[in-house]
Amino acid sequence: MRGDGLAGGNGGAERLGKLIPAALRGMAAGVAERGGPVPAGGPAAVAAALVAEHGEPAALVAEPAAPAALAVERGGPVPAGGPAAVAAALVAEPAAPAALVAERGGPVPAGGPAAPPAALVAERSGPVPAGGPAALVADPAPPAALPRHGVGAEAALEELCRLLAAGSADPADPACAAHLHCPPLAVSVAADVVASALNPSMDSWDQAPVASELEREFTAGIARLCYPGAASPDAVVTTGGTESNLLGLLLARETGIVQSFCGANAHHSVARAAWLLGLPAPVVVPCEGDRMLPDALAAVLTPGSVVVATAGTTNTGTLDPLPEIAAVCRRAGARLHVDAAYGGTALCSDVLRPKLAGLDLADSVALDLHKFGWQPVAAGLFAAREAADLASLTVRAEYLNADDDTEAGLPDLLGRSIRTSRRPDAFRMAVTVRALGTDGLGALVERCCATAAEVARRVEAHPGLRLWGVPELSTVVLRPVVADETGDDDLVARVRRALLEAGTAVVGRATLPTGPGGAAQLWLKLTLLHPHTTADDYAPLLDHIAATAGAELVAGRESPVAS
Ligand SMILES: *Cc1c(COP(=O)(O)O)cnc(C)c1O
Repeated sequence: MRGDGLAGGNGGAERLGKLIPAALRGMAAGVAERGGPVPAGGPAAVAAALVAEHGEPAALVAEPAAPAALAVERGGPVPAGGPAAVAAALVAEPAAPAALVAERGGPVPAGGPAAPPAALVAERSGPVPAGGPAALVADPAPPAALPRHGVGAEAALEELCRLLAAGSADPADPACAAHLHCPPLAVSVAADVVASALNPSMDSWDQAPVASELEREFTAGIARLCYPGAASPDAVVTTGGTESNLLGLLLARETGIVQSFCGANAHHSVARAAWLLGLPAPVVVPCEGDRMLPDALAAVLTPGSVVVATAGTTNTGTLDPLPEIAAVCRRAGARLHVDAAYGGTALCSDVLRPKLAGLDLADSVALDLHKFGWQPVAAGLFAAREAADLASLTVRAEYLNADDDTEAGLPDLLGRSIRTSRRPDAFRMAVTVRALGTDGLGALVERCCATAAEVARRVEAHPGLRLWGVPELSTVVLRPVVADETGDDDLVARVRRALLEAGTAVVGRATLPTGPGGAAQLWLKLTLLHPHTTADDYAPLLDHIAATAGAELVAGRESPVAS
């Protein structure tokens, strides 16, 4: 049967060799189609594109010419409208899919998600569509994602990889700069293909003999990177900062600690971890300039607690003063977990490492190599100064790590994670570091930070923009000056959405207490994780942001609502 060849084993490489070109052809076609860093039209349009291309059988059968028309009409990588529009139209006319196709004149109904309910209401003439459940399921077409009959591996790969590429927010485009969302290195992706094909699962040695070994070596190296002077540090692989912060609080709880403290700048996953673990919500410590105030911490910290500090905040990339916070913790007898999900890899740079001074005073550290590290998601790491602290993750499962197996020398992997089946994510991280060295990785981090510093200077010099502060890592936080002139935070939000809707740029947002009396103000955020760009690559984006803010200001004034 087409498409059922195994990726591993005899002939696996040959089969992959035939299929990967199909995936790459689809990807190349999709990238070419998209034309910008992100598909236009927002989330609804992206979802609608899937429906339009192959989701609704009637469209494909009754209107075979539609895809070409679509390409011409839409002027962008995805059609306008949205999934709600399509679903509503189907619900409104369950018995007449052909009429629906003729009416809409395009692959998806116009009007977007907001319009259909009104149309539906007018057509329906009652509180619920006529015909009841039977009418709604009159056309029992299976959902597009679960076709009864397959199209074969090459066709499926080319089609869906093209759709994915065309419909993706592409971090390899400099204008895609909202989040800690990095463009992965080819070397890591290539390694991942092989890792996926061989599919080592990291929950028992007999599923991952060499992979578990490579992981052990790699995590030992990470532990040493975080704790160069510690006697017995260790590290484990996680899915990211969220899971690492959970582990940080979990290990603290296993020592009897109940109460956590974190800065107002902390990532939301810290409070969530406390919630998941059944612990009280963290006590939130005030910040200044997005940096935790050690004196404020000292004033509230109770003995026998755990403090979570941040080395590189998600909003601004600011680092908490780790040595001072560590000293406060030591005096109070509190544990310290540092969330270095963003900033941690700066340890690889001689230039930037001083920013992380004091990190090794923490009991545990979260790092994300799917940020600075250029790995595909997920590539999280959790380091502990004392390997023994990780013992609380130990668990027995007769079929995976029976005592007699362990005594006979089979490594016990189950206690290396809170997960069971687990991808060999350390493999591509290890391949990457082997290829680049920590120096090479550090150089990429330095480059992003240098670019951010220069972009920040240009924001400062830009007549239409205001800079929040000098970047400590690679985050540039800015605000259109017209928003300051009018005091209009909503304008800032609209600029971001307008750029996203147009498919021109993906810019982030950050709420910071910069308003009068510390009131919250909305800022725009560029998180620069593209290692091959220079400030020149961001100049058009800065102009675009300022121009869009001007246009939104005018649009706001002209709108009857605003007047
Ligand atoms: C990204 C980030 C997280 C969350 O990490 P995930 O990998 O998305 O789970 C936590 N803390 C900080 C500071 C981050 O930047």
